[in-house]
Amino acid sequence: DPASAIPYGRKTQRAPALQEVHILWITAGLGCDGDSVSITAATQPSIEDVLLGAIPGLPKVHLHNPVLAYENGDEFLAPFHAAARGELDNFVLVVEGSIPNEKINREGYWAAMGTDPKTQEPITIPQWLDRLTPRALAVVGAGTCATYGGIHAMQGNPTGCMGLADYLGWNWKSVAGLPIVNVPGCPVQPDNFMETLLYLLYQLAGLAPMIPLDGALRPKWLFQRTVHDGCDRAGSYEQGLFAKEYGTPNCIVKLGCWGPVVNCNVPKRGWINGVGGCPNVGGICIGCTMPGFPDKFMPFMEQPPGAVLSSNLIRSYGGLIRSLRKLTNSTLNEEPKWRHNRSRLTTGYSR
Ligand code: SF4
Ligand code: SF4
Ligand code: SF4
Repeated sequence: DPASAIPYGRKTQRAPALQEVHILWITAGLGCDGDSVSITAATQPSIEDVLLGAIPGLPKVHLHNPVLAYENGDEFLAPFHAAARGELDNFVLVVEGSIPNEKINREGYWAAMGTDPKTQEPITIPQWLDRLTPRALAVVGAGTCATYGGIHAMQGNPTGCMGLADYLGWNWKSVAGLPIVNVPGCPVQPDNFMETLLYLLYQLAGLAPMIPLDGALRPKWLFQRTVHDGCDRAGSYEQGLFAKEYGTPNCIVKLGCWGPVVNCNVPKRGWINGVGGCPNVGGICIGCTMPGFPDKFMPFMEQPPGAVLSSNLIRSYGGLIRSLRKLTNSTLNEEPKWRHNRSRLTTGYSR
């Protein structure tokens, strides 16, 4: 009997408010497809778990991402055209790559995906955004290019490119009343993205409250702490142990780490399956999740100006604390003196 084969929990749980959701994922902004590649490493949840229906309470999810799709050409583009015509119910739009300013492209275009069936002209990324965002249940930026502009939007670039909120407006809301949701990172940390997507799917299914976002439209629970707060090397920083070269376990602020002033959970979460995490494994934090990235963090590999004062102050405090701790540590490494095999009890016990 097929009904008895359904797990008990599936029969008792509330049905999602939506039965099916499409995820239309555009990677054709100015970018490198690195965020699509990154999410294939997610485990909390994995993309497979979401798509194969392994997570209770979720609607059926259909993913349309050019890097991960089996379809190509017109077949791949069909759901995008259908959504633009208002013929695709319930879709979330994910944007990867920054949005070029096509008002200044003179001849040709900066970035496009597919061609218009009527005119055979390329459809630019702003045109896709204009067609799809009014109908999307939610709009999500994957990676720092799509969220804030990223590397392509640095000073001196010719395209005038920008992030989603710069294009749509920071107060933009979807038809379902959701603000833009930004999940920055270059690339985005895989689980940060998939966890945010899972949250949004639960919210759209009527099983979660409004997603909490910070002022830069990032999920609060993922981005409220700094890299420094979660760094394996923070103990070295506090004791004034600063590396002068790579290859030591000490704090790398003097080699250019911006961790104390950057909102990112990567040292806590790791990169893949909990392993890695920039400064944990010896790489300076260059602030890739931040709206000011990359310009405000350059030149990379140089000590951040603000770190000169703080690290010099901590050096004398840390040196003193370190020697006091060494003393305490050596006494803690000795057993209490009453543990012996002599014939007299010296524990202080009395009847
Ligand atoms: Fe590539 Fe980084 Fe831009 Fe993502 S944010 S598209 S990984 S350059
Ligand atoms: Fe902070 Fe960076 Fe040093 Fe880690 S390596 S303790 S994040 S300054
Ligand atoms: Fe980017 Fe710094 Fe986070 Fe690494 S630790 S992902 S460089 S913000």
